Amino acid sequence: MSALLTVRGLTAGYGGATALDDVSLSLAAGETVALLGANGAGKSTLLKALLGLVPAWGELRFDGADLGGLATETRVRRGIGYVPEGRRVFPGMSVRDNLEVAGLPAARERAQDVERIFALFPDLALKSGESAWRLSGGQQQMLSLGRALMGRPRLLLLDEPSLGLSPRLADELFVAVRRIAGTGTAVLLAEQSAARALTVAPRAVLLRVGRVVGDGPVASLSEETLREVFFGV
Ligand code: ATP
Repeated sequence: MSALLTVRGLTAGYGGATALDDVSLSLAAGETVALLGANGAGKSTLLKALLGLVPAWGELRFDGADLGGLATETRVRRGIGYVPEGRRVFPGMSVRDNLEVAGLPAARERAQDVERIFALFPDLALKSGESAWRLSGGQQQMLSLGRALMGRPRLLLLDEPSLGLSPRLADELFVAVRRIAGTGTAVLLAEQSAARALTVAPRAVLLRVGRVVGDGPVASLSEETLREVFFGV
């Protein structure tokens, strides 16, 4: 199977400190992969490097083309959607406008996409005319996810989407992620909560202090490896 995303020998850092050290991984079209690691392991940095939001060295290919040197906007246009950590919505804009401004230029397609997202998140449909700041934290996270979907991504990068959500809302969000993955969108899901991530991802990549220390089907990852990743023992 040809890969949708290929990362080879990726290195990134902040000032003198290395955050990613020789990271390699690949994702097939439509595949869902959990990116697991403790706080500070480099998950966010990896997602940002894929988008060109932090400088990185190494090979990055998406859909057969080299991403190196491309502007973030170009990467997004090519089909990489991103939901950053924390909810990024325009608080003063209505729910519908938050989606619209993230949509495709063609009005008809954009309108279809808004309806598709309202079908995925019925709570958002009910509040379509309300200002985004009036939404609950979970609804804002769904809106943030909806905004990323408006670009019709083939790869969706999710940075700790359940952070700060109640268990019930986190479950709801993960149901949505499963449905998105079910439509054929590849998902790279950065999570500190392995248990939750593994409910949607059959495969996991484990990061520890900037290095990949495991990659494979969830069943093949030993408990020792997982423990080492999260607790360093
Ligand atoms: P978290 O769950 O906290 O987001 P993470 O696995 O996503 O953790 P990163 O945020 O990618 O980890 O951080 C990797 C390393 O880079 C850490 O040592 C962190 O302190 C450092 N780092 C991250 N962002 C910056 C920054 N803007 N400036 C300096 N160092 C940073």
